[in-house]
Amino acid sequence: MIIVMKPGVPMQEIRQIMERIKKMKLAPHLLRGTERNVIAVIGDERNLQREPLEAIPGVENVMSVLKPYKLASLEGHQERTVISTGGFVIGEKKIAVIAGPCTVENQKMLLQTARHIQRQGACGLRGGVFKPRTSPYAFQGLKNAGLKVLAQVRKSCRIPVVTEVLDPRDVKAVAKCADILQVGTRNMQNYELLKAVGKQKKPVLLKRGMAAGVDDFLMSAEYIMAQGNYKVILCERGIRTFNDYARNTLDLTIIPALKERTHLPVIVDPSHGTGKRKYVMPMARAAIAAGADGLLIEVHPHPERAWVDGRQSLSLQEFTELMREIQSIAHAIGRTL
Ligand code: PEP
Ligand code: MN
Repeated sequence: MIIVMKPGVPMQEIRQIMERIKKMKLAPHLLRGTERNVIAVIGDERNLQREPLEAIPGVENVMSVLKPYKLASLEGHQERTVISTGGFVIGEKKIAVIAGPCTVENQKMLLQTARHIQRQGACGLRGGVFKPRTSPYAFQGLKNAGLKVLAQVRKSCRIPVVTEVLDPRDVKAVAKCADILQVGTRNMQNYELLKAVGKQKKPVLLKRGMAAGVDDFLMSAEYIMAQGNYKVILCERGIRTFNDYARNTLDLTIIPALKERTHLPVIVDPSHGTGKRKYVMPMARAAIAAGADGLLIEVHPHPERAWVDGRQSLSLQEFTELMREIQSIAHAIGRTL
């Protein structure tokens, strides 16, 4: 259920209403808007009755949300969510580009990459330190030592950092150094991890599971939001199909499908989506043209020597070209870079 407040109702009154809702054994979630505030009410459906809520002064309207993802749904929250953290803004007219290596190898390569992508207009640096690898014998990331490298580069470049967290026990340490926590494709339905990242305050970049439908994806976002963290960025990164010419099938149709259903920002990762350097640029262009709010791109100073995912990583020069190319697409659809 969504309670739409009348414009100008003071916060103090809204808090009192939320207390009343809690006494009805329901959980109120305040979704702030620039025009008006709404309270999403979640809980046992047997306790969800419209009339007592409608009678509360200051309430303009009470609506049922039909979708199972109550907080993520566009039905109850018509204003699109804009997420900003340390200079990184996503969900506005400006396209947000996050770039960097698949995995942090050392400070020198990370610093070199960060400086380059920042000069080209990227607003976030990516770099995995806890790596989810298909093989248990493959490099698993620098872990806590890698977090330190990320923190140093973040500080010297003043660039927001995105890194993946694999285990609920690491959430605290990762949240201490990263600006945005990534939950990867293999963990999209790791509900304990989703709850753990939902309990902390940093934004979460949630990647679509490689076999997840749109409702599965949004229900995973809902898990995070139900814990009180509404700052969720959705990321399409390719799904498994019978495609035998690329690593995955980058499903760009999910961009309009998500935009129709949710107020959350949507970005696209054409690096994992294709697995091939040559395909990254065309699919990045297509993603922007289809309405994505941003991109996640793997970049390495020497892709041929990269420890992980070199085949899909762009060189620094290729990243410069990508930024130039997507700029014209962004302008053509009324957005900026
Ligand atoms: C990544 O972005 O580093 C990653 C492992 O991606 P995915 O979870 O999409 O495979
Ligand atoms: Mn990778």
